[in-house]
Amino acid sequence: MPPSYLHEARRRVGSRRARIGPIVERLKAAHPGAAIALRFRSDLELLVAVMLSAQTTDVNVNRVTERLFAKYRRPEDYLAVPADELERDVYATGFFRQKTRGIRATMQTLLEEFDGRVPRRVDELVRLPGVGRKTANVVAAELGEPQGIVVDTHVRRLSQRLGLTRHDAPDQVERDLMRIVPRSEWGLFPHLLIWHGRRVCVARAPRCDECVLSELCPASRAAGATSRAGGTSARRRSSSRPRGSSRSR
Ligand code: SF4
Repeated sequence: MPPSYLHEARRRVGSRRARIGPIVERLKAAHPGAAIALRFRSDLELLVAVMLSAQTTDVNVNRVTERLFAKYRRPEDYLAVPADELERDVYATGFFRQKTRGIRATMQTLLEEFDGRVPRRVDELVRLPGVGRKTANVVAAELGEPQGIVVDTHVRRLSQRLGLTRHDAPDQVERDLMRIVPRSEWGLFPHLLIWHGRRVCVARAPRCDECVLSELCPASRAAGATSRAGGTSARRRSSSRPRGSSRSR
């Protein structure tokens, strides 16, 4: 987007701090069921499901964990079978060798350092092998104690489109969001963006005309927004924007 158009669009919608409240409220109203799609019944199942969700869909993980969680109930269970048996059991989630290594090493650490329980602090969760900040943030948030904001590909893409960050790196996007999103919303906010990104603000063809955020969004392609932001030339320039990836977590 040319800098002059971007500047005009940002001026039109107002500051990030002024917009974040209405953005959250409108998304809550538009997506009242926004929540994690992974299925789990315990802290341990949550941790394993999130670890398995890397590079695949939540639907696929749920299909695999339905049987997996009936077989593996405690950290010891993941270590009691040969590695290749666990590899077969998680095969359908992809990257099965890497995920098996990470899960087994994590179970070992849970038993040695955490009494077999899943810690709730992000700084403890990231000590588990194969658990990065995003996984730790998801687990902490679902356990009711969000200590950061989960940034996946949808959250990053929508945060950029909405002018909430100018950064690309997830940790920088997260820092920007943590400065403006009320702490009480840290757990829910990523789900709202993920749902909105899947249903309305899709990567290649955002449905700006149906979007509840249109007048709050500097990237809006809705007719009213583009004409207010500079007429047909601005609309023509913006027609190649915004772009992004549609991959899920
Ligand atoms: S107005 Fe368009 S670009 Fe902005 S959030 Fe809505 S769908 Fe996405």
